[in-house]
Amino acid sequence: MSCTGRFAPSPTGPLHFGSLLAALASYLDIRAQGGRWLVRIEDLDPPREMPGASKLILETLEQFQLHWDGSVVYQSQRHALYQQAIDALLDKQLAYPCQCSRKQMQQRGALQAYDGYCRFHPPAAGAQTSVRAIYPDRTLSFNDRIQGERIYPADPGRGDFVIFRRDGFFAYQLAVIVDDEEQGVDQVVRGADLIDETPRQQVLQQHLGYHTPSYAHIPVLTNHEGQKLSKQTFAEPLSLEPLQIRQQLHRALALLGQRPPADAFELSPEALLSWAVRHWSLDRVPRGLTFVQETG
Ligand code: GLU
Repeated sequence: MSCTGRFAPSPTGPLHFGSLLAALASYLDIRAQGGRWLVRIEDLDPPREMPGASKLILETLEQFQLHWDGSVVYQSQRHALYQQAIDALLDKQLAYPCQCSRKQMQQRGALQAYDGYCRFHPPAAGAQTSVRAIYPDRTLSFNDRIQGERIYPADPGRGDFVIFRRDGFFAYQLAVIVDDEEQGVDQVVRGADLIDETPRQQVLQQHLGYHTPSYAHIPVLTNHEGQKLSKQTFAEPLSLEPLQIRQQLHRALALLGQRPPADAFELSPEALLSWAVRHWSLDRVPRGLTFVQETG
């Protein structure tokens, strides 16, 4: 049976080297199995987005010869699907409206881990609310294909979590699992900065009766301060200069533990990627949540 993977960038800025690692790892892992690779633009949060970033991201993937199957999916066009999932969760009483403000939660010491207040004191009809999904009071675990078994003990520090924001936007946690299910994604490969979101996503999948894909979290690149490379830490955009494309691909493959041939710099990006698909080994990807520190 054919498998399906995906790369799901948020269009907050151009792709940087950290995003290349995630794109490349998910591409190689699924292509090595003869599977489909999808691209989904996670444009759910307009205030954080950069105009033109989606187009730039897709052009960059094409320049790196990372070609996707089918058409690109944009989360901004799928609100009806997310609303259906919220309605289903509310119907099953696995989610509830919440009108707590940051300030109120802070006063109750419930900012880090929500205390369930609105579950027991439902807001009045018509109030502007968020929606929270119920996080179960039991140990959760999953087996990451790179990082091994991850265990999340029942913990009052992990409260019911937001799936629809009070400011009117759908939350990442919800949209990502609706889309993975709807697009038939059964293998997720992404950065380890998202590893601790996985149990919440699995909770939602169970609440909604969805499949749970397999997960593999690659280490993320950090700068000297230990911060993840991102727009916020001023990570440089990928260079689109032809020689640099080859060098960045080569460096990304080496970091992912693959061993590109010595003459790889002379290979075109197509030839290098085709080598990498043929020789891909997930077992060689370093274990750990971050790579050795690099400058941003
Ligand atoms: N859109 C998320 C990000 O750019 C990735 C989502 C995912 O891979 O699950 O960080």
